[in-house]
Amino acid sequence: MARVLRVAVPGPLRRWFEYLPPAGESAAGALPPGTRVRVPFGGSVRTGVVLGASDDPEIEAGRLRRIAERLDDEPSIPPSLLRLLVWAADYYHHPIGEVVRTALPAGLRRARSAAPAARAWRLTGKAAASSALARAPRQAAVIAALEEAARRGGEPCLAETRLRTIPKWRPAVRALARKGWVEPLAAPPSPAGPESKIATPNESQAQAADAIASAAGAFRAFLLDGVTGSGKTEVYLIAIDRLVRSGAGQALVLVPEIGLTPQLVARFREALPVPISVVHSGMPDGERLRSWEAARTGTSRVVIGTRSAVFTPLRRPALIVVDEEHDPSYKQQEGFRYSARDLALMRGSLEGVPVVLGSATPSLETIHLSTAGRCRRLRLAERAGGARMPGIVLHDVRRQPLAAGLSERLIEAIDERLRRREQTLLFVNRRGFAPVVICHDCGEAMECRHCDSRLVLHRADRRLRCHHCGAEQGLPVRCGACDSADLVPVGSGTQRLAEGLSERFPSARVLRIDRDSTRRRGELDRMVRAARDGSADLLVGTQMLAKGHDFPRVTLVGVVDADAGLLSPDFRAPERVAQLVTQVAGRAGRGALAGEVIVQTRRPRHPLLTALAREGYPAFAAEALAERDAVRLPPFARLVLLRAEASVREASNGFLATARDLAGELHRPGVEVMGPVPSPMERQGGRYRAQLLLRAASRTNLQAFLRPWVERVAGVRTPRGLRWSLDVDPIELG
Ligand code: ADP
Ligand code: ZN
Ligand code: ZN
Repeated sequence: MARVLRVAVPGPLRRWFEYLPPAGESAAGALPPGTRVRVPFGGSVRTGVVLGASDDPEIEAGRLRRIAERLDDEPSIPPSLLRLLVWAADYYHHPIGEVVRTALPAGLRRARSAAPAARAWRLTGKAAASSALARAPRQAAVIAALEEAARRGGEPCLAETRLRTIPKWRPAVRALARKGWVEPLAAPPSPAGPESKIATPNESQAQAADAIASAAGAFRAFLLDGVTGSGKTEVYLIAIDRLVRSGAGQALVLVPEIGLTPQLVARFREALPVPISVVHSGMPDGERLRSWEAARTGTSRVVIGTRSAVFTPLRRPALIVVDEEHDPSYKQQEGFRYSARDLALMRGSLEGVPVVLGSATPSLETIHLSTAGRCRRLRLAERAGGARMPGIVLHDVRRQPLAAGLSERLIEAIDERLRRREQTLLFVNRRGFAPVVICHDCGEAMECRHCDSRLVLHRADRRLRCHHCGAEQGLPVRCGACDSADLVPVGSGTQRLAEGLSERFPSARVLRIDRDSTRRRGELDRMVRAARDGSADLLVGTQMLAKGHDFPRVTLVGVVDADAGLLSPDFRAPERVAQLVTQVAGRAGRGALAGEVIVQTRRPRHPLLTALAREGYPAFAAEALAERDAVRLPPFARLVLLRAEASVREASNGFLATARDLAGELHRPGVEVMGPVPSPMERQGGRYRAQLLLRAASRTNLQAFLRPWVERVAGVRTPRGLRWSLDVDPIELG
């Protein structure tokens, strides 16, 4: 007979806690797993989630405390989702209480879940002439917005999200509701008729959709490998339409952070005449909770969301889609460091549904899975609209004069586009950026004498350091290979480039799109629209520009400095460069106009770059995989990174050295421990960061070692202010 309940409680401890059932509910089994409860914890009360019941408590009966309150009548977390969370806590070695807290929308972290309020409002038809609102401009604005919606969409209703642009809209709507002019609409408006609106698929689209749809009801992984513009979205839509509409199931569609645009959601709403909800971490708590509830109860049939949406409960899951599966935003980089793509696969296997990973530039991990037969590859080799793929030209800039980083050839090509009133997209790679010093004359990069890795320039003291072995030296005056004195740090920022362009082309309209220029909410969307409607001539941007967007008038893409990525000490950097170059190339020549891609480099014979330019991404991927295999890096090995940071360098190093010694005391067949070494960005915000890298060929060996090791590491007494974190399957070694 079960006596205690195991509860996941948020906190730093990597374990569950035992409680007696709440007073009045004698049988522990009355509280099924997934139920939220309030429990006494130390001196406070916290919200936890029941994981299960046990007959055999680990703590003595006298010290057991009771659950204070049960918060759900029906579990907030269905069993299969709870299994995913437990698996993830175990795999990522993160406290289960924190994992559960990450998964729950903020609205469910505290109290009893509120009854979902109205999501949309509509005109009742009783509204008097708008002159009656002359003294209530906000109410007038609400009425005007509703009338505008009626004119455009045929239905006089608006979601609250759309009303939010009106300042103080809530009291205005309430006042109008009291007058009886507007009323809440319980269900979200369904803008489309009962018919799906999906383009007639071409043959490869139809084959791919058939393959996915026929896998209904069981776990099966697919890689939808389709070149940019091949119409992957249509394949998702057809598969969803079949599995969701006829089979009455639900689909979960994950998109990268910057892929979740109003245009994408509109495309889904237009194509699929079923309730669709949107989930992302930036949305207001109340709205997120309503999406969560709609998915949990089965009211919404398609859930579109970013990374954290992988934890959305589904009553009748039928299909999981991960669009642009290679995108780094699927990896959470702080706190609970999970990969939503990997968890999507695990979830598919726990729920027994097919999972589609889609990309024009699949991650090497996913390509490896498909080669190993664990994921079926579906190809879309042609662009759907018949537009041709642009060619990629490697432009050797060694010994060439550069203006703001641009060669004469690129400047001429830009000039030509300006004269033809076409657009140019100039791309600057910033991800994983580390300042590496390169010889402008021969392309040689400064390397460590003790190992094969590139030296990183620390500007503060003008010294070069190896982030692999820790060796350091002063800046050399001359190139060791050709004796040239023209040694330069690679890469330049978007801002410098945009300024340089404005100087060179004073009449051109330059639009800079990067993290800084799009910090304000809605700014990215506004800029993308400006880029599309032709109110800019030159688009300068980072990876934010690389994907998803359709700029029909862009006919030239310039990659200003490919070397920054090729020479980065991060082993994944070349993969990112190839993905970005291919994706930005995919922005060119989408319309009727043909496109050209110019990649500036001082390494024109770099084998990965030449494979990419000559034969395209698949050839690059094959080459890169062979390299990874040779040096035993993922996907041919598993990595774990233990990071530490503190205000003094010795503190983080000391902690990591202790962790390394603890590893030495454990039996660890096949697990290598490397470091500690300083992080690529060693100093950040006045803190020193360092890391210890673990590598193993087998996941089983690695996991068996991690369990006891992490427990010991967590028990190490650390100096004040030291923070550490564990990253299983890190995607950036920084
Ligand atoms: P991807 O995501 O693979 O880059 P998209 O899904 O954005 O490609 O599709 C590219 C363009 O081709 C879109 O404008 C889309 O509407 C169009 N398209 C897709 N499939 C078809 C089709 N079968 N017939 C005509 N146009 C299509
Ligand atoms: Zn070294
Ligand atoms: Zn040189």
